[in-house]
Amino acid sequence: MFKVDQDKCLRCGMCTGICSDVFSFDDEGNIKVNNEIINDDNINEAKEAMNSCPVSAISIDQENEE
Ligand code: SF4
Repeated sequence: MFKVDQDKCLRCGMCTGICSDVFSFDDEGNIKVNNEIINDDNINEAKEAMNSCPVSAISIDQENEE
């Protein structure tokens, strides 16, 4: 499902602001993706967060999609 390229990520907080369920900061200030809680209710919000990322650091890993 969603993954974040930590090398590209600016830690701007945009994704966490749009979809705090799925995207959050870990203890080291990196973006943590909570793919296990993605459901029909928050998937669109998560996609909006992905599309809003200023450096396109968020992508969907199709291979891991079930
Ligand atoms: S919106 Fe993009 S650059 Fe900003 S914190 Fe999220 S993944 Fe990083």
